[in-house]
Amino acid sequence: MNIKTGIFFDMSPSKIFFRLSKYIFKYKWRILGGLISVAIMSGADTASAFLIARLVEVLQTIGQQVRAGQEILVQVPPIKFLDITLFNFTIHGKAESFQLIFRFAIAVIIIIFIKVLFVYAREYLMSSVQQKLLMRFRIELYNTIVALPVRYFDVHKTGFIMSRFTNDVNNLEQAMSLMIEIAQNCVYSLIFATALFYTNWKLTIATILIFALSGEISRRFGDKIRSYSRDLTNTLADISAFLQEKISAARVVKSFTREEFEKKNFKQKVESNYHYSMKIVRVIALLSPTNELFNTTATSLLVIFCGYLFIQGAMTIESMIFFLLLMINLAKPIKALGESIARVQKSLVSAGYIFEILDLNREPLDDEKPAFQITRGEVEFRNVTFSYNNETEALHNINLHVLPGEKIALVGPSGSGKSTLINLIPRFYELQQGEILIDGCNINDMNLHSLRSQIALVPQDIVLFAGTIYDNIKYGKLEATSEEVYEAARLANAHEFILTFDKGYETEVGERGVQLSGGQRQRIAIARAILRNPKILLLDEATSALDTETELLVQDAINKLMKDRTSFVIAHRLSTIADCDRIVVLDRGEIVEVGTHEELIQNENGIYKRLHTLQFNIDES
Ligand code: ADP
Repeated sequence: MNIKTGIFFDMSPSKIFFRLSKYIFKYKWRILGGLISVAIMSGADTASAFLIARLVEVLQTIGQQVRAGQEILVQVPPIKFLDITLFNFTIHGKAESFQLIFRFAIAVIIIIFIKVLFVYAREYLMSSVQQKLLMRFRIELYNTIVALPVRYFDVHKTGFIMSRFTNDVNNLEQAMSLMIEIAQNCVYSLIFATALFYTNWKLTIATILIFALSGEISRRFGDKIRSYSRDLTNTLADISAFLQEKISAARVVKSFTREEFEKKNFKQKVESNYHYSMKIVRVIALLSPTNELFNTTATSLLVIFCGYLFIQGAMTIESMIFFLLLMINLAKPIKALGESIARVQKSLVSAGYIFEILDLNREPLDDEKPAFQITRGEVEFRNVTFSYNNETEALHNINLHVLPGEKIALVGPSGSGKSTLINLIPRFYELQQGEILIDGCNINDMNLHSLRSQIALVPQDIVLFAGTIYDNIKYGKLEATSEEVYEAARLANAHEFILTFDKGYETEVGERGVQLSGGQRQRIAIARAILRNPKILLLDEATSALDTETELLVQDAINKLMKDRTSFVIAHRLSTIADCDRIVVLDRGEIVEVGTHEELIQNENGIYKRLHTLQFNIDES
């Protein structure tokens, strides 16, 4: 288990590479097109190297004849391709010699022109594969994340999940471009090596061995980079999580005057990130010069050896130039191959993290189970025992029978299990013992989507999304008409204050929009729930105090929302409790008292009486 990320990391680089390749393979035709373009490009480079070498050879003969004072007469060796003679000509005199040079130049330009056309084709095809894959990964990641069970979000910080989308997807982009580069460079190398092989196979084998050794050096560097990268990625995720938490809680930090403390914490995290980055920087910085030194030495040795063969008469000037030009061409992709392989290791770590998220168990949507229509809204808890961590029980042996349309207020000290109880109804967590029945049907036998679509949850911390007020209300029922939206807002006592804004329903809320008061936010959330028209309502009342007038408006909206629906309210206000049919008092995960306010208040030693005196008397006063 990776302590920092909290997830298992058991995928080997080869496994990740294989999996990533499978994704890439989905675009095989584009890749094939790209690689064919690369083959044509390297063919063009080989052809132009060959022409240049041949030209030097011819010029050398011309030079000898001119220096000897002879008339120029050169039989140009025929230019063949797969035993087919393409050109076969003889030149007489200076004019034809110039013509020859001119023709060679034109031929090289044409070849290079063809090459650049394919450079465009390769670039377009390969980049489109990369972008399509990125899009696919982003979509798959998000699709997985929205389908993860609530438990996952309890354990993982938002910043950690966000960093999968930002840092890791960016690294993945790099990994893919490197993999594509590797494939391209393999094709380049293969073609240049084949051409070299025909020129001088012994020299070619020596060249390949030297470059392969250089590749091995890069691979060793790669191993180091990979191990540091994992730590680096973790530090980045740590920083994201820290920022996410501390920025959203800026008020808390300020009110506790913990700026210095947080600055120190942040500095530590950034320094740890710097530490690992520098480790990688050192390895990468060492990689380039090592490669450079190695390759230059190797190239010089090969040049010396070619020169020796030339002097010995074992090599013509043409084959020597052709060989050296191709070798320079070959050095580039082989060197790049070594580096890409080293760098891809770093990016593969991120790909691994992404695959791990994609492999997480999604919430079973139970699509095979039939949709269940809640008609009455009767809810029954039978011997429900639940624990978050299999150690301490958050709820113990809960038995509660709630009649259709009944309004239940949940009361109890903090940590007594009120939120847990309401979270079990939409199956945010799976029960370990006992069962919950709605209209006599076990919720585990229902199709999850159909169950949740008939329940509305109004949480304590009201969440409004970036967008207009209209869109935020409509979130409760996407197919609602504007009349339905306005009607829901009217019922929630929100219509009037919405119209006081210049843009009315089109007013933007969220980070870049207007700042709404607590009471206004609550009424928008209530309108959203009214629009959803659920059979069962789960309401965690906001604790923040409201002025009396707003309090009345909100309470009135809540009453309208609860009307004719089975409602569970985590009650913090006396007014809500008064409107409920029964009060369920929880203590340490157990139901300790059930009854109406009048009944419970009679029990002098009861928890309700104590809580009421403590908490609600203050409110009343
Ligand atoms: P209440 O809503 O009455 O304040 P909760 O239902 O939130 O109480 O909590 C009941 C118990 O379950 C507490 O001991 C709390 O620490 C624990 N708990 C609540 N939520 C989680 C969670 N997501 N993961 C682990 N333990 C939790």
